[in-house]
Amino acid sequence: MANYSGPVCRFCRREGAKLYLKGERCYTPKCAIERRAFAPGMHGQARKRKTSDYGLQLRAKQKARRTYGLLEKQFRNYFELAEREPGVTGINLLRHLELRLDNVVYRLGLGASRKQARQLVSHRHFEVNGKTVNVPSYQLKPGDVLKVKPANTVTDVAMEASKVRPVPGWLSFSSEDKSGKILAHPERHEMESGVEEQLIVEFYSR
Ligand code: SF4
Repeated sequence: MANYSGPVCRFCRREGAKLYLKGERCYTPKCAIERRAFAPGMHGQARKRKTSDYGLQLRAKQKARRTYGLLEKQFRNYFELAEREPGVTGINLLRHLELRLDNVVYRLGLGASRKQARQLVSHRHFEVNGKTVNVPSYQLKPGDVLKVKPANTVTDVAMEASKVRPVPGWLSFSSEDKSGKILAHPERHEMESGVEEQLIVEFYSR
């Protein structure tokens, strides 16, 4: 999706679930999936046929990929990395996605959506451990400190819009100096709940 600039609500409608891609609007009655709870396109309202195992796996992968706003190649690279590591592949995959800098900015409430968080990172609004980082995929680790650059007000609107989302337990946030710290690796229950990682592993293991 890095190169996709079309309407994103169709992704939610395709997956039949809210992916929260538009920030504040996602929490209002204007949300497209509240108004048109069927798949987009000409045949969106046609009677559904039974989905095959492959179909379920594909949808699970697409849903996760779109939630985190990644291109297929990027997502697959994360899977291959997760597969080579010890432990459960699906959890490793999710952990890498959660620890991306753009995702942490979003989780801390400094971006109204992951897409906006990515743009803010690219525009050099954040420091990690005292150094400016403008790479959205930058992997953070426990102990890292992320801070909005001094005298920067660009995140204020996003912070206001993000109040509906609590900061997860693996992160701490100080609104005074607009800084956050990675306290630990996220546990499964603290990661994106709608992701079915087992189906994603099955998809790539075919
Ligand atoms: Fe998805 Fe947000 Fe659009 Fe609703 S408003 S359909 S949650 S992107």
